[in-house]
Amino acid sequence: MTNPLLADWTTPFGLPPFADMSDDDFAPGFEASLTQARAELAEIIENPEPPTFENTIDALELMGEAMHKVLSPFYTLVGVDSNPAREALQREFSPKLAAWGSEVSMNPELFARVDALWQDREKLKLTPEQMRVLELTRRGLVRAGAQLDGFAFDRLKQVKERLAVLGTQFTQNLLADERAWYMELDPEDLEGLPDFVLATAKAAAEEKGAEGHVVTLSRSLIVPFLQFSARRDLRERAYEAWTSRGANGGETDNRSIAAEILALREERAHLLGYDDFATYKLETEMAKTPDAVRKLLMEVWEPAKAQADLDAQSLAAMMNNDGVNDALEPWDWRYYSEKRRAEEHDLDEAELKPYLQLDRMIEAAFDCATRLFGLEFKALDVPLHHPDARAWEVTRKGEHIAVFIGDYFARGGKRSGAWCSALRSQQKLRGDIRPHVINVCNFAKPAKGSPALLSYDDARTLFHEFGHALHQMLSNVTYESISGTSVARDFVELPSQLFEHWLEVPEVLQKYATHAETGEPMPADMLQRMLDAANYDQGFATVEYVASAMVDIEFHSGDAPEDPMTMQAEILEGMGMPPAIRMRHATPHFAHVFAGDGYSSAYYSYMWSEVMDADAFAAFEEAGGAFDASTARKLEDHILSVGGLREADELYTEFRGRLPGVEALLKGRGLDKVA
Ligand SMILES: [Zn+2]
Repeated sequence: MTNPLLADWTTPFGLPPFADMSDDDFAPGFEASLTQARAELAEIIENPEPPTFENTIDALELMGEAMHKVLSPFYTLVGVDSNPAREALQREFSPKLAAWGSEVSMNPELFARVDALWQDREKLKLTPEQMRVLELTRRGLVRAGAQLDGFAFDRLKQVKERLAVLGTQFTQNLLADERAWYMELDPEDLEGLPDFVLATAKAAAEEKGAEGHVVTLSRSLIVPFLQFSARRDLRERAYEAWTSRGANGGETDNRSIAAEILALREERAHLLGYDDFATYKLETEMAKTPDAVRKLLMEVWEPAKAQADLDAQSLAAMMNNDGVNDALEPWDWRYYSEKRRAEEHDLDEAELKPYLQLDRMIEAAFDCATRLFGLEFKALDVPLHHPDARAWEVTRKGEHIAVFIGDYFARGGKRSGAWCSALRSQQKLRGDIRPHVINVCNFAKPAKGSPALLSYDDARTLFHEFGHALHQMLSNVTYESISGTSVARDFVELPSQLFEHWLEVPEVLQKYATHAETGEPMPADMLQRMLDAANYDQGFATVEYVASAMVDIEFHSGDAPEDPMTMQAEILEGMGMPPAIRMRHATPHFAHVFAGDGYSSAYYSYMWSEVMDADAFAAFEEAGGAFDASTARKLEDHILSVGGLREADELYTEFRGRLPGVEALLKGRGLDKVA
């Protein structure tokens, strides 16, 4: 019987045949596809003909299609709907994949062919895109160690394979801790919780097979619980459980894994001739050096900390007025901050919530994409990976552009957080291949029959991930290796964070924020108060973020710490971390940094991109409004459609005419007025 993963996919749009595949297909499919990829690589490097762009670079781009057909649905499922069988497969695949990655990227024969082309590049009559792909391919091989030999070569290979195993373990431990913990709430424990939190807690209880209400460590439940629960003892218990993920001792403890990962990354950098991992990593980023990152983070840190210290005083005073004569603790911050927000902005989340319906916010994101880029969306009825997932066909002037999939609700086997990935990326080398893009979120699933309601933060996440999706969907290049979001890590958050700005354009919510029961639009004054409040508590948000970003960059600068937890504490103390705020992600659950290499010494990227998104949105406003057609055109032409065709600073300069400074960001966060 043919493996459905490897067969010709006759599904609509060539989507993965989710309805026909089973977990048993992945391992044999993976083995077969790996064998095939090896044969393709052998064909490239053993080719008796001298290297040409076509027989080397094109062939490399085309290599591994079968493997992609197996792994793209597999990793989608592992992220959104994991189970013990899939986790076992993931553990089995990850060292094999790392080894395969090394076979390609550390291949001396392949490097020799690519390097010969590079030396000859002026004579090859390449298009600018081909020249860029050649440059990046060669750079990738050099940075992977293809030029090494002897001990260094073998050791680097081992290091990478071990890192892949550790990254998988880190993620699985975290998921295990997140799944294991929940707190049952008795009726007297519900004090202060508004209806929407109760509904989420009830749905969570049903999923856990418990009675009544429970709190889990899902962000969409724990955060509102911390905002509203009047029970300080329960807030403390929940908060400690939340921030102890990965640090509970026993089999799922991530602390020694983090230490080993950092040591191996340092060794990797040394083997490649770099002083430390951050220097190696940042070489290809827009920031270029760790010092440029520190400079940005400190420019933001000082005003943010000043604001947070002021806020801490106000919150402590509120708490004392409540009769709690104790120091303000991290589990108090969100609770008193929410009260203060309700007072100052006369706005409480519970009152707001019925106006932010998931389906309407999806329509709002689509409508913005229609007005800016002429994209149209039509719901599709196709088999997907989970009953909660939905798909749309995206077209422009009748022409097929992409398939967009949204998988919005939290569930047990889903990784926390929100992300965008491509089941298939845009490219033209293999024919006119249009992308299949998926947005994954962890919004609270409503009880049967009720509409899904979002917080303003959730709506922002939805717009953020949709911005990444646009970067994939509008891609228009030939080579997959530079298509869509294949750009520098500190540039990749620009399209996503920029798109969040359209949620703040009043006419968008005037139309799409309608009450779930009455259908009435959100009253104008409430809308204004909500937008004003959106930038509330930025001292807190900025401090918790910058603390994480700084720990990340310091971990990877200089010698790797023997005990990361001690070093983390020292860094925070050195920065003067306010006692009532903790890192947004502490080391044992800092998946951005330890689950893989993507955001390691690059967690600062969000802020780096924010410097640009604030400035880029200003370009629309200066040109006449949020939907200015010519600015949208420029954004698509110079950024959204070209992927990694040029260096990020060039792309940005083409769009804006110059590079941005930090001012627009501080202003956007309301931190420009703090002393
Ligand atoms: Zn993002």
